[in-house]
Amino acid sequence: MDDEQARRDGPQDQRRAIVVGAGITGVAAAIRLRRMGWAVTLIDRAPAGDRGAASFGNGGILARCSIVPVPVPGLLAKAPRMLFDPDQPLYLRWSYVPRMLPFLAKYLSYGSEAQVRRIAAALAGLTGDSVDEHRALAAGSAAAGYIQTGDYGFLYRDRAQYQKDAWGHAIRAEHGFHPYEVDRAGLLERDPALGEAWTFGAIFPDHGWIANPGAYVAALAETFAREGGVIRRAEVEALSGDGRVTLAGGAVMRADRVILAAGAWSARLAAGLGLRLPMESERGYHLALKSPASAPAHPWMVGEVKAVTTPMDFGVRLAGIVEFGGLDAGPSEAPPKLLRKAAARIWPGLEWEAEEEWMGHRPVLADSLPALGAIPGAPAVVAAFGGQHVGLTAGPRIGRLAAEIAAGRTPNADLAPCAPDRFR
Ligand SMILES: Cc1cc2nc3c(=O)[nH]c(=O)nc-3n(C[C@H](O)[C@H](O)[C@H](O)COP(=O)(O)OP(=O)(O)OC[C@H]3O[C@@H](n4cnc5c(N)ncnc54)[C@H](O)[C@@H]3O)c2cc1C
Repeated sequence: MDDEQARRDGPQDQRRAIVVGAGITGVAAAIRLRRMGWAVTLIDRAPAGDRGAASFGNGGILARCSIVPVPVPGLLAKAPRMLFDPDQPLYLRWSYVPRMLPFLAKYLSYGSEAQVRRIAAALAGLTGDSVDEHRALAAGSAAAGYIQTGDYGFLYRDRAQYQKDAWGHAIRAEHGFHPYEVDRAGLLERDPALGEAWTFGAIFPDHGWIANPGAYVAALAETFAREGGVIRRAEVEALSGDGRVTLAGGAVMRADRVILAAGAWSARLAAGLGLRLPMESERGYHLALKSPASAPAHPWMVGEVKAVTTPMDFGVRLAGIVEFGGLDAGPSEAPPKLLRKAAARIWPGLEWEAEEEWMGHRPVLADSLPALGAIPGAPAVVAAFGGQHVGLTAGPRIGRLAAEIAAGRTPNADLAPCAPDRFR
């Protein structure tokens, strides 16, 4: 189908595209456009798979069923207690609060039941076929070796704790995600090191995870280069609506289409095009446990500590925490400590050889949906950012849809909820 369409589209090699950002979204968009016959340059200030990108340090889960956004009914009531308790996974850098108040007000305004249902439906359209999207993107390359498929479990102390999540599970069920239940014996088959407190699991089949997200994105970028794409290492300073891209130092590149996939940094570049977006970094953290004595057979979402745990090729990664503190401040001390406590609560007695801490920036728009589509007033530029907590999951689909839009095709998806100018 792609090849046939490419033939119909004419002499493709004369069409040039620049993709800004070599995280999962940008790499996917670049590969897709290249496969449509375009001459594509992928620009990033760092190598693909670098630890500065969210795509490096995420939880690795292809979380098809994670369609319920963070702001939900009741969050506003709980938030103040959470913010003042260092054992809760929500943090604010207080010095940053004045700058982000307008965002925060808008973000919380999307927490009504009607909004959450609307957002979940739109997210389901982006995450539903994510395992297949990743497989198709990586097919035939070394990247394919990092894709694991299997269950995704929600871990609870007991059925009563599971039932407290009933509202979110009901929304997931409306979109076809039905878990089956496992008891303590079933949990131990999956994860022998689990502490005695854990006695109940809700298991979602047909999910997936990436056994090393940074290496995976690097391998995808190598595939792109092998397929004839060009990778350029540079800081992009500004975009013009007509396809000019200004690099640090003043050099200007030109293309017929530019895809803006710079993750949490995208809003700064979009603002230069006149598109002002309510967007923030939801800073998140991971703690990697290298060579642990045992590892779970598949990822867990542990709602009690609001973290995920994922088996990886080096051991296990715990990832989570939401911290509002902007793009420029360094990591805080408390979140890794909280993840360490979570590890001890989930697997008391588990030993591992080494640890690694990391902080990264989830790209989040106020309504938890990405900006995906043409930018009004900037006819050459397509927005492809804002994957928030499921940006690894949805990255290949967002990238493919952005590539189709850039190529002038009409994607087979309702993208109205993701229109880049929807906040105007
Ligand atoms: C702790 C944590 C856990 C997570 N867990 C999961 C999970 O389990 N599953 C899931 O689906 N998602 C998860 N996510 C979310 C996911 O990681 C992100 O949504 C996703 O990686 C975003 O990808 P991206 O390509 O849009 O952005 P990034 O991966 O951040 O890439 C953006 C790239 O743009 C480059 N760039 C930015 N500005 C410029 C510029 N001016 N010039 C040149 N280059 C520039 C950066 O260097 C970077 O390489 C998690 C995130 C965090 C932080």
